[in-house]
Amino acid sequence: MAKHLVLVGGGHAHMMTLANIHAFVAKSHRVTVIGPSEHHYYSGMGPGMLGGTYSPSDIRFATKHVVEKQGGVFVLGKAVRVRPDKRQIELESGETVSYDVASFNAGSYVPRLNLSKDIENIYTVKPIEKLVEAQTRIKELASQKPITIGIIGGGPSSVEIAGNIWQLTSGYGANQPRVKIFAGKDLMAEYPEGVRARIEKSLKRHGVEIHTNGFVQTIEPHGIILASGERYDLDLIFLAIGVKPNAIFERSGIPIGPDGGMRVNAYLQSIAYPEMFGGGDCIYFQDQPLDKVGVYAVRQNPILYNNLMAALEGKPLQVFSPGGDYLLIFNMGGGKGVLRKKRLTLDGRIAFIVKDYIDRKFMKKFQAIE
Ligand SMILES: Cc1cc2nc3c(=O)[nH]c(=O)nc-3n(C[C@H](O)[C@H](O)[C@H](O)COP(=O)(O)OP(=O)(O)OC[C@H]3O[C@@H](n4cnc5c(N)ncnc54)[C@H](O)[C@@H]3O)c2cc1C
Repeated sequence: MAKHLVLVGGGHAHMMTLANIHAFVAKSHRVTVIGPSEHHYYSGMGPGMLGGTYSPSDIRFATKHVVEKQGGVFVLGKAVRVRPDKRQIELESGETVSYDVASFNAGSYVPRLNLSKDIENIYTVKPIEKLVEAQTRIKELASQKPITIGIIGGGPSSVEIAGNIWQLTSGYGANQPRVKIFAGKDLMAEYPEGVRARIEKSLKRHGVEIHTNGFVQTIEPHGIILASGERYDLDLIFLAIGVKPNAIFERSGIPIGPDGGMRVNAYLQSIAYPEMFGGGDCIYFQDQPLDKVGVYAVRQNPILYNNLMAALEGKPLQVFSPGGDYLLIFNMGGGKGVLRKKRLTLDGRIAFIVKDYIDRKFMKKFQAIE
């Protein structure tokens, strides 16, 4: 019997399912995709876009076009709640969408703490599309006066943003912004010494100031105050304080993990509602909690595609195995990177060339469907 598959978010874990919408339609199923933007932006290339290496069109995937081209329906909107008892998804607009099988790849967000939405000159590092706005704002402000940019957070997105602001503005002469990272107690605290040292060296070479004298307690429109009471004036602030899974599940009373992600079993299926599946940053894989990195979302693609088809067709589900250690490469700006795989760490041009090759290949593969 024909059924209705609803995909919430067209993120990294849904790419293969999106590329195969025609296969669902060929079996007479209806497919609806809900997303807040007609495009999905590839996060791995986000800092490179801020730095000017890539244009927005290099790093985005035309979700709406791909869905409609294959006979699916694209609904522009944000899912805010699920009513699993009624098999309905509620959108911010008040609209509801019913499903037989639903899959969630709605990502994660950077908590804005208690900041109001209207405060100017504060940018979160996600959604990635906001980095386009941030780039315009940096250019605008730096063309008027010397400015200071603060990045709150000391993890991978913070250091990549810093390196790429340097790249963007390295030709600005006297108006090149000062960039300060407020890393709390440590920069890249969760990474081995070899990675940390190389990243620190790269940032310092570019004049980025690294503050590890305490956590930021208050963020104001034009500065920050540390727990010690020390105040720093800033013209522009980036929030890179880590991410939380989309709040849809918490709001809906669906079983979640300690981080708020939908708790899923080895089939990437909700432990309470077998017709709900998910992947990427918005799930909590209960057998083995996963880092919030795109690598896992990408690895989940074939399993999600198979299991969504299987759930619609009454076929057996496949188990997701997260796989071993993954390659991490940080884009430090200036065409250089820092690479880590198992015990291997290296930096310089070669690291960036490898990252650029992998990222462009990924985009080429999925943009080809457009
Ligand atoms: C600056 C930065 C750089 C990074 N670089 C790397 C890297 O190099 N390598 C790596 O492995 N990881 C990297 N990461 C981590 C990576 O971004 C995430 O792990 C990855 O994006 C997770 O993919 P996802 O598809 O789950 O989520 P997302 O990429 O966030 O995609 C979620 C999708 O859902 C949509 N959506 C959001 N809310 C809703 C809603 N309410 N309803 C419907 N749709 C919704 C969004 O529009 C988006 O299309 C980086 C993160 C950041 C912030």
